[in-house]
Amino acid sequence: MNKLTILCVLYPDPKNGMPKVYARDNIPKISQYPNGQLAPDMSNIDFIPGSLLGSVSGGLGLKKFLEDQGHRFIITSDKEGENSEFEKYLPEADIVISQPFWPAYLTKERIAKAPKLKLAVTAGIGSDHVDLAAAIERNITVAEVTFCNSISVAEHNVMMILSLVRDYLTQHEFAKAGLWDIADCVSRSYDLEGMHVGVVGSGRIGLAVLRRLNPFGVHLHYYDKYRLSPEIEKELNLIYHNDVSSLAKVVDIVSINCPLHPETEDMFNAQLIGQMKRGAYIVNTARGKICNREAIKQALESGHLAGYAGDVWFPQPAPADHPWRTMPFNGMTPHTSGTSLSAQTRYAAGVLEILKAYFGGEKIREEYLIVDGGALAGTGKHSYTTAA
Ligand code: NAD
Repeated sequence: MNKLTILCVLYPDPKNGMPKVYARDNIPKISQYPNGQLAPDMSNIDFIPGSLLGSVSGGLGLKKFLEDQGHRFIITSDKEGENSEFEKYLPEADIVISQPFWPAYLTKERIAKAPKLKLAVTAGIGSDHVDLAAAIERNITVAEVTFCNSISVAEHNVMMILSLVRDYLTQHEFAKAGLWDIADCVSRSYDLEGMHVGVVGSGRIGLAVLRRLNPFGVHLHYYDKYRLSPEIEKELNLIYHNDVSSLAKVVDIVSINCPLHPETEDMFNAQLIGQMKRGAYIVNTARGKICNREAIKQALESGHLAGYAGDVWFPQPAPADHPWRTMPFNGMTPHTSGTSLSAQTRYAAGVLEILKAYFGGEKIREEYLIVDGGALAGTGKHSYTTAA
């Protein structure tokens, strides 16, 4: 195989350097996902599971593997603008690896600057940072590590639903400040029990959210282009909606779990939010652009929405003055839900698996494919569109 240039964009190292000790000594071994899909093979990894791999020095644990084969491995976090390291090396890149948490936006214009590019790998899930139509046109394969962090996100998502409804973040601030003002603490605090919760996009994450919420004694609703099996609908007592507005009108909490593509961009705009019940909550761990930035802010300010939480923004990193950082009743975090140390282990091993298949001339697992052979493929064919 020719010696290739692999350009990898990762988030910067921790401000005080890479961790010298970790909070825990190991992570559980996950070899299979809930739908039976096998997790990436861990037998040939060159890193310690549970270590920080997603930042520049972690290098996704790929350095030795790539350099032993004579490939050129460039890692940078400098990804914005024409003078960035990313744009500097794009013309030489055969493969680009990027993480949604610190996305190297592969726009049509940037793809045009990368004549050798054949493979774009998402270390994680969600390849909307790549212009998929342009990748199709140029016959670039786009692959991601399907399921690697779906459960990580579902856990974060449930945490955010509970913390909004119970108003946990406010109460924690009182405790930290040495205060004991119970009436102030509970004046926006409710029980989740008995509420109606609706999931938009009942794929790997959405279904995991539904399963995790079921024991809370809530009424579960969902909307997806594809209906779940009658067995799952019965097991979770699900109410199916065949359009998003039918769901949005009746639920107390919306959980957004569909990918960002032309059909879902700006889905939660002023018109749809206006149809929601007063006092509803939205949790969005899918992508920032699925919600209209101003409409969310205004609905919180007017009291129409009681809370909004999520970890996804546009652009990323979000500018310091992004209104979602300071709007009332928000429980935002930076884009972290899918990059826990546990998730990093799986997606680093998954990227290694994709590269091994590619170098060996073997087919990349069907479920990892978003674009292949000049068309949407695998998971991409099921979950994405390139035109509205
Ligand atoms: P998935 O492919 O298993 O599920 C996506 C579901 O959305 C599918 O069931 C699909 O049919 C549905 N869908 C697509 N278009 C739709 C539309 N127009 N209306 C209704 N439903 C639609 O993917 P997943 O693993 O569940 O991940 C979902 C998304 O979550 C990713 O694409 C990504 O954007 C996001 N994600 C975020 C993080 C994070 O760290 N915050 C991590 C992983 C994934």
